[in-house]
Amino acid sequence: MSSTLRFQIVGEAFSKKAVEVPARKERPSEFFAKYVFNRQKMQKYLPADVYKKMCDVVEGEAMLDMATADAVAAGMKKWAMELGATHCTHWFQPLTEGTAEKHDGFVEHDGKGGMIEEFTGKQLVQQEPDASSFPSGGIRSTFEARGYSAWDPASPVFVFGDTLMIPTIFISYTGEALDYKAPLKKSLKAVDKAATKVARYFYPDVKKVVSNLGWEQEYFLVDEGLYAARPDLLMTGRTLLGHDSAKNQQMDDHYFGSIPMRVAAFMKDLEVEALELGIPCKTRHNEVAPNQFELAPIYEETNLAVDHNMLIMSLMKKVARKHGFRLLLHEKPFAGINGSGKHCNWSLSTNTGILLHGPGKTPLDNLRFVTFIVESLMAVYRHNGLLKASIISATNVHRLGAAEAPPAIVSSFLGKEISNLLEHLEKGIDSPFPFGGEGSAEGTPSPFERVGEKPTLSLDIPQIPSLTQDNTDRNRTSPFAFTGNRFEFRAVGSQQNCAAAMIVLNTAMAEALTDFAMRVDALIAEGLEPVKAILRIVREDIRTCKPIRFDGNGYSEAWKQEAANRGLDVETSAPIILDQYLAPSTVEMFSRMNVLTKAELEARNEIKLDTYIKKIQIEARIFGDLCMNHIIPTSTRYQTQLIKNVAGIKNLFPAEEAERLNRTNLSLIAQMGEHNAFIIENVERLIEARRVANRIKDGRQRAIAYHDNVAPLIEKIRYHVDHLELIVDDELWPLPKYREMLFIH
Ligand code: ADP
Ligand code: MG
Repeated sequence: MSSTLRFQIVGEAFSKKAVEVPARKERPSEFFAKYVFNRQKMQKYLPADVYKKMCDVVEGEAMLDMATADAVAAGMKKWAMELGATHCTHWFQPLTEGTAEKHDGFVEHDGKGGMIEEFTGKQLVQQEPDASSFPSGGIRSTFEARGYSAWDPASPVFVFGDTLMIPTIFISYTGEALDYKAPLKKSLKAVDKAATKVARYFYPDVKKVVSNLGWEQEYFLVDEGLYAARPDLLMTGRTLLGHDSAKNQQMDDHYFGSIPMRVAAFMKDLEVEALELGIPCKTRHNEVAPNQFELAPIYEETNLAVDHNMLIMSLMKKVARKHGFRLLLHEKPFAGINGSGKHCNWSLSTNTGILLHGPGKTPLDNLRFVTFIVESLMAVYRHNGLLKASIISATNVHRLGAAEAPPAIVSSFLGKEISNLLEHLEKGIDSPFPFGGEGSAEGTPSPFERVGEKPTLSLDIPQIPSLTQDNTDRNRTSPFAFTGNRFEFRAVGSQQNCAAAMIVLNTAMAEALTDFAMRVDALIAEGLEPVKAILRIVREDIRTCKPIRFDGNGYSEAWKQEAANRGLDVETSAPIILDQYLAPSTVEMFSRMNVLTKAELEARNEIKLDTYIKKIQIEARIFGDLCMNHIIPTSTRYQTQLIKNVAGIKNLFPAEEAERLNRTNLSLIAQMGEHNAFIIENVERLIEARRVANRIKDGRQRAIAYHDNVAPLIEKIRYHVDHLELIVDDELWPLPKYREMLFIH
């Protein structure tokens, strides 16, 4: 691209007006879930008995039989065709990031030479996409390439464009999970079982516990013309070169600032489309970096929340294009400014409406609260390395530990009040509680009394002041922070499927609660009162999981050392972090909780390593090309201009004066020469490093070679390229600069 073209694109981007979004007459409550086959639609489009059966199926209380499936499919087809759908697809979440789909038309031969629209129960329930091109980590060799996708009735079908989308799990011929949804559902079942048992110590009427997830999706917008002029953005999702803009986020003027008009129009459009798809969007605002924004819905049951996040990621890309933008979900599209994450707010609640991670009214509620907080900490403590492995990727590594995101050490922030409470409990129940509150056990009926066991013990757990986000200290450096009635896992990357982290978190919680209940039951069997038994085990666990608690500055060097001393996982190399998928504690947990087998874990590890390698391989290639056919020629051209200038001055002036006048240009010519030489030499080394790495047979070793020898070279070379950008005539520079990409609306 010539720089004239660059100026033209920049000019066009500046002068674009906001796309008109027609105002809606209906209120959100009227168009919410318009395109979702939810209960209301089921009731309308299904015969009464089928509707009733489906409700049980959705609740997980009945199995789906073929006759019901056929009846449901008929109702769905009618509804979908009224909305203009012509195709249907099973929609699943393979182990690559993103979703996959294969569309089939509703058409069938009618046997008389014509066509009819058809959609049967069988099509609804199961498909066999030829899945040989999805990663399977060696589980499924190509000769048995078939994978099965099977409908997940817990997540309602919806119409997207002209297609009826059916959320499904995706498994191999031999039954192993090839996706995120299958193990996620198993982990949710495991945590339901374990948490229900524990919740019933406190509330005997609890029948079910669900896991909640509220994600906060961050993203960048870039004008599409500028995006198209950056091959690195186009191919890798991030800028591989580009000097800092003189102004970026140092003024803190973007965060919560007023939303630019073109962006506001986009957000409005997106929100309406999301609401129509049943995604309960609630918050939108600018983020810290220029051109960075965030979108958050109201939290939902985790399986549905994950589906909604996957859906919104594709929806937002689509809507952005209508508005002349490209939407970037990469965790670090621009160096030197904040990257994008996806905070995952997580909690458990009962079918009776109790938020298990939230403080309650009675001392017993609060013992329940403490139990669930402490067991969450136990889960994270035992599997902190694995939790980190669940979110590590070639792209998220650029964000972790940089100034905007938690470091690559998982620890948990509780805030002063909860920390004091745990210390109080740890010391023993007889010591006075450090902060006031009316809650003493006296006079408060305990559920244990209700079930006929008289407590002889006064529960010294005071009222816990109701904690809102406002009075919990907000520690942005903590990866797993308690924020009032939930934990917020902040290390998740913006483009990741939250399920990877949610599978680990919920399974680890299931394991912790199972172990908790086993120990409590053993004490009860020995004759100890339930409350005493619970307190004893809680106290034991408060001590055990202490190393995971950290309220200090996660960015400090001292913390790295301290965390290592505490035995937390401080590994920073992504391929080695991924070993955690195969750690004995991981394999044991997943098989005990019946979520993933060893073979499935091996497959996941292999796929993650492979993805890691490919991402860096692509970056290295694009970067090498950009250096050699964009940067070096431009730099050489400018250098030649300067050389001509120097020669001209030499001709015009007496030698001594010419020397003085030429001094600065000569220095620039030399600097450019040095940068050019460094770049050319090291691009060759980069190619060689790739070649050497590619020859390594073992996937893990190959990934390590990419991590140790390829990735760092890109950064080293970039330093020189970015310096050239400061020297070379702006007129000649071929690629849109940071200041042009980041401040245009
Ligand atoms: P922040 O101040 O962290 O940006 P928000 O108010 O934007 O917080 O909320 C973040 C997300 O947390 C939202 O999706 C919200 O619905 C969700 N959330 C709130 N309470 C809970 C909870 N108890 N469990 C899970 N998610 C929750
Ligand atoms: Mg948040």
